[in-house]
Amino acid sequence: MIKKIFLSGLILVGILTAKAQQRVPMDQIVRVVSYLSSDELNGRGTGSADERKAAKFIAAQFEAMHLKPKGRKGYFYDFTYKYDANIHDTIKANLKPKIGRNVLAYLDNEAENTIVIGAHYDHCGLGLDGNSLDANPKEKIHNGADDNASGVAGMLALAHYLSTNGFKEKNNFLFIAFSGEELGLLGSKKWCETPSIPLNKINYMINLDMIGRLNESTKKLLVYGVGTSDHFKETIEKNNSYFSIKYDSAGVGPSDHTSFYLKDIPVLHFFTGQHSDYHKPTDDADKINFKGEEKILELIIDIINDLDSKQKLHFYKTKSVDMGTTSFKVTMGVMPDYAFDESLGMRIDGVTDGKPAANAGIQKGDIVIKLGTYKVDNVQDYMKALGHFNKGDKTTVTIKRGSNIKTANIQF
Ligand SMILES: [Zn+2]
Repeated sequence: MIKKIFLSGLILVGILTAKAQQRVPMDQIVRVVSYLSSDELNGRGTGSADERKAAKFIAAQFEAMHLKPKGRKGYFYDFTYKYDANIHDTIKANLKPKIGRNVLAYLDNEAENTIVIGAHYDHCGLGLDGNSLDANPKEKIHNGADDNASGVAGMLALAHYLSTNGFKEKNNFLFIAFSGEELGLLGSKKWCETPSIPLNKINYMINLDMIGRLNESTKKLLVYGVGTSDHFKETIEKNNSYFSIKYDSAGVGPSDHTSFYLKDIPVLHFFTGQHSDYHKPTDDADKINFKGEEKILELIIDIINDLDSKQKLHFYKTKSVDMGTTSFKVTMGVMPDYAFDESLGMRIDGVTDGKPAANAGIQKGDIVIKLGTYKVDNVQDYMKALGHFNKGDKTTVTIKRGSNIKTANIQF
């Protein structure tokens, strides 16, 4: 919500002009995050005039880097979708289609295969789409600095590095800024249905979604999808000396890499973790850890360079529930703690007022271990359990609070 002069950013720019040989263009990252998350763009709601404005900005960055357009109309790849937060799935067919816009650019190294680097640029707009976690979201600007101006800035920084390093990798690169992610991975799903390049020529996909909140003391970085290729984990381990990495093998998760995984493409998703500003108007640029983001991008550059000497990666299916194709009919109104240790339940990082969990007396810090008769060992179990319920259903939720176990009634 705040329009601030971006002091920490300006200081960083000063420091970095002195270190021009760096691989990661920090001034560019600060500029991109600051602009995309400014009030001027009204939270970049999918299909809005503000989304178009952000798309134009991203296309201009691609053009300045002399990258080839790879959309349907220049850099733009428009797709139709039907969405209304207040209308149930079954009657969505009658809605008037809207248009969302992905933005794509290509670095042609005349190679056989291509690496996709993606980040969604849409966010919750003015809180009208039903995906805000603010208690009264309507007409508040959801700036989405971490989610996901940070990822777009990272994607553009990698594009900058890869197009100016004077080196021809053994892969081409396709950079995609997705829209419609917040409404259910719409832009990435649509692109994977009618892609600009053959899917079987994609070596692997890197997704940057929320990489701006590295905790300076824990240095915890979450990397999803490591099980989708047999080379990912060893390559990351080999190149990492800075982060405390929490690995997740699953190719399915709550972001755009899922769309690629479901097309049998190895994927990696980088994520600095949940926070209390998630999907709220307070996800602002002054809370971004730019130094942390720089470290993440350095690691990704090392990974790309390291994997470049290898053949096209072999794809592995991972053990996971099929969340990518499920659209949930109900919500509890909680924010899962994705960094919580698996197999102990699903820890709640935040509770939205007025939603079923809050009404049932659930609090931040509670660990869900059972929903109805479904045992919940982790976030995936929870998602799967949620898929069994319809709006209006009554059931019980069993939680651990400290050393106590409590069961509460809940209605969706
Ligand atoms: Zn996101």
